[in-house]
Amino acid sequence: MPSTEMSTSLTYLKGVGPHRASLLASELGLRTFNDLIQHFPFRYIDKTIIYKPNEVTPGPAEIQVRGFISEIKSLGNGPKKRLSVMLTSDNSSIELIWFKGINWVRKSIKIGSEIIAFGRISQFNDRFSISHPELELATSLKMNNFSGLHPVYPSTEKLTASGLNSKGLSKLILELIKNPHRSRLDWIPESIVKSKNWPNRKIALKEMHYPKNSKRLSIARDRLAFEEIFLDQLVFAFKRKSHLTQHSGHLFSKLEPNFNSFYKKILPFNLTNAQKNVIKEIRKNAVTGLHMNRLIQGDVGSGKTLVAFMSILMAIDNGYQAAFMAPTEILAQQHHSSLEPWVKALGLKIGILTGSIKAAARKPLFKDIASGELDILVGTHALIEDPVIFNNLGIAIIDEQHRFGVAQRAKLRKKNNPPPHILVMTATPIPRTLAMSLYGDLDLSIIDELPPGRKPIKTVHRTDHNRLQVWGFIKNQISKGRQVYIVYPLIEESEKLDFKDLMDGYESVTRDFPRPEYQISIVHGRMKAEDKQWEMQRFAKGETQIMVSTTVIEVGVDVANASVMIIENAEKFGLSQLHQLRGRVGRGKEQSYCILLTKDKLSDNGRVRIDTLCETNDGFEIANVDMQLRGPGEVMGTRQSGSLDYKIANILQDGELIEWSRKLAEEIVLDDPHLEKPDYEKLRLRFSEYSRHKIAWGTVA
Ligand code: ADP
Ligand code: MG
Repeated sequence: MPSTEMSTSLTYLKGVGPHRASLLASELGLRTFNDLIQHFPFRYIDKTIIYKPNEVTPGPAEIQVRGFISEIKSLGNGPKKRLSVMLTSDNSSIELIWFKGINWVRKSIKIGSEIIAFGRISQFNDRFSISHPELELATSLKMNNFSGLHPVYPSTEKLTASGLNSKGLSKLILELIKNPHRSRLDWIPESIVKSKNWPNRKIALKEMHYPKNSKRLSIARDRLAFEEIFLDQLVFAFKRKSHLTQHSGHLFSKLEPNFNSFYKKILPFNLTNAQKNVIKEIRKNAVTGLHMNRLIQGDVGSGKTLVAFMSILMAIDNGYQAAFMAPTEILAQQHHSSLEPWVKALGLKIGILTGSIKAAARKPLFKDIASGELDILVGTHALIEDPVIFNNLGIAIIDEQHRFGVAQRAKLRKKNNPPPHILVMTATPIPRTLAMSLYGDLDLSIIDELPPGRKPIKTVHRTDHNRLQVWGFIKNQISKGRQVYIVYPLIEESEKLDFKDLMDGYESVTRDFPRPEYQISIVHGRMKAEDKQWEMQRFAKGETQIMVSTTVIEVGVDVANASVMIIENAEKFGLSQLHQLRGRVGRGKEQSYCILLTKDKLSDNGRVRIDTLCETNDGFEIANVDMQLRGPGEVMGTRQSGSLDYKIANILQDGELIEWSRKLAEEIVLDDPHLEKPDYEKLRLRFSEYSRHKIAWGTVA
């Protein structure tokens, strides 16, 4: 085969005709040489150790045994017909047995030849044997039978039918590996390759398929994983840099009068250390005149709203307005009413804008926003609509940011020129390395501490059989003055059915908890916003003891006296949603409980979710399990953008490599912003090709 470009169509590969080429494309999406060489094994068979017949023991693993063929005989008749071959070395033998393909095997072996048999050892009448072993001549350990880890490739039924099972694929890939090809080789700067002692790309590719041992495999893997990670980190490093040079940020140098008097006189509790640290980090941004783009992560109940509010006060002290955007109407209302007393005490002015605010009320509101009369505007995405014109927007807070799209965030940013500082908050904890891969152009802050005095929520799993007992527990809690949520899942595809579940549930709850002893609220997505609001208020004020609802209450709602969260059909919820829901309780001083109700039988996946929740309250741990169950792309809602499906790198496991790549990219961008050094020449070409294809995912604005 002549020297070829890796973009060559697979039709031109030896062993691949038009038929196989079209199958490879339709079944596995493999079209070019490059695609195929990156079709990596999903596991390897260890052929590094070769045993002698007297060393083997029966077991589940497939192993290799080396010896001479000392005897070949056919046994039995009809369906019991079999071929028995003795493999002998050092006066000890094992038996190799075939029930099928007997003639073919007979022809390919002869007495006295030295072979390696590969298979699982079983024991029968004191004799060790291998059924249907793979055989290799010991003298012909060539490249394709070499003694390392052997690849096992993902294949499909259709491919297998046309000879491309794992073995067939491995032959094709071997063909590629053996032949010279040129393309994209070694674009990693020599200095980096040297510092890591990595093999060149060609060897790395070869060792991904045919590693000599697992250490070599892991080195090859690291090199190729680095390629994937590093390009992204370089994109981020450039973005962060251009961000800093293009946008000067509003300067919040004063902390008087509002910030300080709030902190000293109004704030009813001490900030947690984590809150203090994050406020310091924000302050650092705001006094340098550099634009802030910051992600605050903090588990449910960690007090992110307060941090947001104190950042808002910094803006106001320096003559700016603030916007606070929340994903749902209820949450916006909640923020508005929880901030209102503080705002009033400071003599500031706050307004709210959501979809349900009537036109008549909007007019004066718009006027106050435009004139600068209004200091803080809380709202849903209604606040990024065109008629909303700020006088001087200095900071924009986005709560539960994963609920908003990139476009919405970008629009918020454009509400002022120069753009406001951006603070996005999330309660879906993201492992640090994932955050770096996904929001690599953001600064990260973490609130990893809950306010003092919170008792960990006790979570248990119960089935329908235990319902009476659960109801009894609720009654007991209510008699102690507590309040209870009962939540039903509402899943979009089957909305009608679930809605019926909810209404049936509500009916039975009203039956089992009759008035006037019990007052019950209900909130669901089909209600008018003002009705929802009214019901929420009644519950928040303690006028009702039970809140029956769909997941509309999931985000942010804060009723400290509510101490029991019952989740019906809990198996229908995802892990992070369950964790969010549970976070609605445990906000006060009392012991809180979460009861997960499910049907009797659970799927494996459902079982893991329920068990995880019962075992831990740690949002990071839960997010990790969630990502293992669903994959990072799915969890972060970025599947379409393809940003997280690396071929080799694994965001959850390659933390060190990601951290290192980020640092390295940062240094390179600082040191040689145009990648002009000779060592960066190939990198520059690869990078410009890569960044052209790159969509601006994960960018806040
Ligand atoms: P989340 O991070 O989930 O948005 P919130 O901001 O809603 O959390 O805070 C949860 C509750 O904790 C609120 O009632 C808030 O007033 C209270 N809180 C916040 N910070 C502290 C603190 N440092 N000490 C005590 N309570 C706090
Ligand atoms: Mg919140």
